[in-house]
Amino acid sequence: MKVSEIKTPVSSISGIGPQLTKALAKVNVFTVGDLLQYFPRDYEDRTRKVTFREQAANYGKVHTVAQVTGHEWFGYGRMKTLKILVNDGSGSAELICFNRAFLEKSLVPGTIITVTGKFEVKYGRLQSTAFEAIKHDDEGVIDLSSITPKESGIIPVYPLTEGLTQKALSKAVGHALQQYALGIENELPSHVIEERGLLQKGDAIRLIHRPSEMSQAAAARRTLVYEELFNFQKIIAERVYKRKGKPVGTMVEPVETTAKLSKPSGSQGSFDKLNHPIIDDPAFAGSLSPLQLDFFNSLPFPLTDDQRRVIYEMDAEIDRSYTERERVLNQLDRGMPPPTTPTFTMARLLQGDVGSGKTLVSLFLCLRIISWKGQCAFMAPTEILARQHAETTARLLAPLGVRTAFLTGNLRAKGRNQLLKALKEGEIDIVVGTHALFSSNVEYKDMELAVIDEQHRFGVLQRQAIIEKGRQSVRGFTFEPNLLMMSATPIPQSLALTVFGDLDISSIHTMPAGRKPITTYLVKEGNETNAYEAVRNELAKGHQAYFVYPAIDSDENIKSAERIFARLRDHIYPQYKCALVHSKVDEEEQVRILHDFRDGAIQVLAATTVIEVGVDVPNATCMVIEGADRFGMAQLHQLRGRVGRGDAQSFCFLIYSKDITETGIERMKALRQSTDGFYIAEQDLKTRGPGELNGTVQAGELGFRIADLSRDMEIMQQARNDAISTIVTQNGSK
Ligand code: ADP
Ligand code: MG
Repeated sequence: MKVSEIKTPVSSISGIGPQLTKALAKVNVFTVGDLLQYFPRDYEDRTRKVTFREQAANYGKVHTVAQVTGHEWFGYGRMKTLKILVNDGSGSAELICFNRAFLEKSLVPGTIITVTGKFEVKYGRLQSTAFEAIKHDDEGVIDLSSITPKESGIIPVYPLTEGLTQKALSKAVGHALQQYALGIENELPSHVIEERGLLQKGDAIRLIHRPSEMSQAAAARRTLVYEELFNFQKIIAERVYKRKGKPVGTMVEPVETTAKLSKPSGSQGSFDKLNHPIIDDPAFAGSLSPLQLDFFNSLPFPLTDDQRRVIYEMDAEIDRSYTERERVLNQLDRGMPPPTTPTFTMARLLQGDVGSGKTLVSLFLCLRIISWKGQCAFMAPTEILARQHAETTARLLAPLGVRTAFLTGNLRAKGRNQLLKALKEGEIDIVVGTHALFSSNVEYKDMELAVIDEQHRFGVLQRQAIIEKGRQSVRGFTFEPNLLMMSATPIPQSLALTVFGDLDISSIHTMPAGRKPITTYLVKEGNETNAYEAVRNELAKGHQAYFVYPAIDSDENIKSAERIFARLRDHIYPQYKCALVHSKVDEEEQVRILHDFRDGAIQVLAATTVIEVGVDVPNATCMVIEGADRFGMAQLHQLRGRVGRGDAQSFCFLIYSKDITETGIERMKALRQSTDGFYIAEQDLKTRGPGELNGTVQAGELGFRIADLSRDMEIMQQARNDAISTIVTQNGSK
């Protein structure tokens, strides 16, 4: 069985009760298959005993067997804290038990324990506040050095969420492995496994969770990454084959890494036009369909050169897809055999910074499709963003007679059924929504354009799923829908070729006229007051501000965000209305707060990355990002794009922590220097260290479970070659 086919609910695993089942659901682990594919983000190497004396050489980490020698207390009242004194034969140390006073009873003097954790020298003594202590039964032992520490070996470190602990997770995975690992079958062709020196799938799954040496974890990871990228490249190769109908093998060119770079300074507007022709207004207007022309004439502003160019380019492709379609339909109608090659369809990635007017471009393309009597599906990654697009679409296009609708998972049954019926009968021209757009019960009459906004937020399979909804079979011949993916986090050209080998890429480099580049300041933690004062000036002018805190996923983070926020609200800006949104605030409340912010009823909006996408408030002129060095560059760039949407000068303050790394500073500087997303994307790739295993936000850019493009490009290339030859063999080269 394939691991993803193990659909047994996790609750059937011994040791997984209702609590744990609920916590696992939060990280999208529902089945045993999901659990087995919930990979560690890192490992802790506890194969070796590290004594107190040796700790410094091991980055301060200790893994030793020690004896409790005494207790001390320090602080008063509620702050009174237990200190457990220990000695492992090599030296002594102190375990500081914040909120763990109960250890007084269990770790009485004389107890022998395995101590694991990070230790530091403070006030001349070796201390730890974050330690693990496991009791041994051994009694009366004299030679501590002869005892092996408990829980030795390689310990997987899983990404956690509220209610999920390393121990519980690790144990659950252990049980799942015992019951299911043997039955897991390979998904890669066996010759690939052999030629590339990979592991059997079952072994890879077992060893990624339970390596006894780091090299096993590495081999397991390589196998799983390989498989993931192979599957990914296979989908691409299949798509190219379907769309272009030529042996995909001929398309493979080695990746050119010398992608053209934009200049860092004053980058907005200064980008070399790459010799693209400029389509002037009359020529452009003349190329539009009547619906598009109505829309064009209704706009209160001129389109930018880049907007006109990309609309023009894509209009031509949409027209071509329809002419080819009609020709083939005609042939089929006359009883001729279906052609052996697929008809042409558009498949484009539209890249451009936040606010560069991509949405508007996509609406023009929808209108082109509607003029041809097709339907459009417009998909966004979050409810908030989808809603905003639905509102914009309705506001701008309903006056032209376009029938729009909004579909999310939250829609109540009655409204939903009506909507689904209308969609199926072709009474809706554009449906905007979330993942709900490709739910199994959604049917389209004739969906011929899928628009995917913030495409990097969707996984490959999800993108595939929406395309499938538009696939139509007529007498044995399959027509594909047109596809437009949009992204504000440009993918460096070097990557794009490999990752989106099947897509044509259009870019918008110019911002709408009148936009002033955002001024960015770097502020070291501790000097926040300057930023707060600058924001106060802006508020006094009637403008609004965002405050952003690092992503919230744990109670601890929420508390810290709430604490900083309380200070903001009560002490720094008491005269202004402030609100906080984060992922634990329920959706309706979030929507209400965002509405109030948009209407100006709230002046200061503090948030986690919830606001990353989907908020468009031109009056907001400043953004303060706390803990900026904890965000990815692309993410910071996206966040910053929330300001600078109106005519006024906007500001962004990146507050970075005192112990920022050197690369961290470099990344901050690149952000200060440039507001060009293309430049930032390149810098991001360059400075991104070997990210920890699947841990970072950035690793999820393409929705991979385990592959990380900042370190796995070589595997990507190999997997691509293998995938292409597999597809060519399957289809036979023509
Ligand atoms: P994106 O999707 O690229 O982030 P949007 O299409 O949402 O950008 O555009 C951002 C804002 O700029 C919207 O309010 C939109 O109406 C406006 N806008 C788009 N194109 C232009 C233009 N050519 N001139 C002025 N404003 C524009
Ligand atoms: Mg957008």
